[in-house]
Amino acid sequence: MLDRVLQEIRARRRFVVTSHARPDGDGIGSALACGQILRRMGKEAEVVMHDGVPRIYQSLPFADQVIQSSSAPPSDAVLILECDSVQRTLLDGLEGSFLISIDHHVSGRNFAHVNWIDPTAMATAELVYRMARLAGVTVDAGIATCLYTALMTDTGSFMFEGTGEQTFALARELVLAGADPVQCARQIYFGHSTAKLRLLGAALSHLHREGPLAWIWVTQEQMQSAGAREEDCEGLVNYALSIGDVQVAVFFRELPGLRWRVSLRSKGEVNVSRVAEHFGGGGHKCASGCSVEGPLSVAVARIVERLRAEPAVVGAR
Ligand code: 5GP
Repeated sequence: MLDRVLQEIRARRRFVVTSHARPDGDGIGSALACGQILRRMGKEAEVVMHDGVPRIYQSLPFADQVIQSSSAPPSDAVLILECDSVQRTLLDGLEGSFLISIDHHVSGRNFAHVNWIDPTAMATAELVYRMARLAGVTVDAGIATCLYTALMTDTGSFMFEGTGEQTFALARELVLAGADPVQCARQIYFGHSTAKLRLLGAALSHLHREGPLAWIWVTQEQMQSAGAREEDCEGLVNYALSIGDVQVAVFFRELPGLRWRVSLRSKGEVNVSRVAEHFGGGGHKCASGCSVEGPLSVAVARIVERLRAEPAVVGAR
């Protein structure tokens, strides 16, 4: 399928590259790298993101060229990274474009004209790296920094299930190409806002436990009083997962209109993508997300009830 992707790219001139709304490290890092790879192939490429670049990723190479917009400019093709649908990008006007999807989610769907979905890859960055290699584009320090950051964040700092020899082999190649692992880690893990830490305090103040499950939440009001933005919620769920005997952690974030955004994380025994998919979301075995109707008590009850039915949770209670 990579051959087909390159064939379609070579036949065209102007590209838009995008990823999902509320982009994470893999979404941003892979999109930035992909845009630069296309430029190196002699193409015109714009990286367009509905939500722009979250603060902790703003120092990545090429991040200052990202266009924040709710619609895509005209192009010959759109490369959509890390998405299972056009809707996940939240960009208007993509329906009439030639679409190329590159994704590594188990819950990936064939929604584009060309769909390269490889769930064996630890991050979409791995696929973008393969694309650069096959296209004969030299992975320089800028591209390597974007791809290393994407790989580091999507593997949970090389800790998530599936991390292995191949992950480190790729990381090694990216470091050899010029990515600085210390700088990349410092930027992401020591680059938080004060508001995020205040929000973490609020979320942990109502930590709930039930056997191998733990859950926390933040309301819109708490976000406002902490001065926090949506992006400050990223990663808060990991603090609940860090408890020794917790197998699954859930983070609930209040959305406008009585809905709750849900982030699920597992240490590996429970496949949380199944739970997210049940509610119309998706993701990976160890990291997935969805949205559910409120109020909070109802949202929590629905998710927790579904988790309780998972065999590994039943066995651990
Ligand atoms: P997060 O909890 O950080 O929002 O998402 C964790 C993982 O699940 C990410 O890989 C993300 O792409 C995926 N994910 C989150 N929400 C959704 C959703 O609504 N639909 C799908 N298909 N995947 C999601």
